[in-house]
Amino acid sequence: MVKKTDLVDTLIHQGQRKRLVDELRKKGIQSPAVLQAMGTVPRQWFFPKDFEHFIYRDAAFPIDHGQTISQPYTVAYQTELLAIKSGDKVLEIGTGSGYQAAILLAMGVQVYSVEYILPLLQKASGIFKALGAEIQLFHGDGTLGLPSFAPFDAIVVTAGAPAVPETYVKQLAIGGKLVIPVGDNTEDLKMMRITKISETQTKSEVLQDCKFVPLKGSHGWK
Ligand code: SAH
Repeated sequence: MVKKTDLVDTLIHQGQRKRLVDELRKKGIQSPAVLQAMGTVPRQWFFPKDFEHFIYRDAAFPIDHGQTISQPYTVAYQTELLAIKSGDKVLEIGTGSGYQAAILLAMGVQVYSVEYILPLLQKASGIFKALGAEIQLFHGDGTLGLPSFAPFDAIVVTAGAPAVPETYVKQLAIGGKLVIPVGDNTEDLKMMRITKISETQTKSEVLQDCKFVPLKGSHGWK
């Protein structure tokens, strides 16, 4: 069980986080709210123990069960693309370490997050419980979305999909945005942003190259 006292944030961490935020700004992240969230959330709380030197590097890092904690730049980039505002309802697919979910919480949105691998979900859940954070976590196949909680103002998928699952577009509010890495090789994906313009119309943007672990499940990789 994670205790509140396990969740430390030293002056060294804070200094390293400030430098990371400068690096993200140089790499093109502009949204003040996103930069502030990246500067607020202690990444070490979601990072594997005993790898102190890697916490504030701008790189993905392995967590348990063959998964990864996303690269800070990727977290900031996806969050910026969502164009969310405080109070929005946001669905994340792939809770993993919980870091992206914590960044969303710091943006002041209502967070719903789905994870396939139960022990990862339980670990993240323990951290949020210790923090007293209000977050809705679900275990299951995130490619189905969360129909009973739709519509969402934004949906962010943090694993690489072979194609855009229709379920997500259905579960977006009008004006809502889906941000999802897509491609037939998880080493060579394109970030896509789909905006729901009306019940029948969407706008699609194909953005930067990226890498993610595979999105599994019925509308993902088998
Ligand atoms: N957002 C995470 C990134 C984790 S990596 C973070 O900030 O650390 C992607 C995660 O997606 C993995 O934990 C993986 O188990 C999960 N995943 C893959 N397919 C999934 C699916 N169909 N439903 C829910 N989670 C899935």
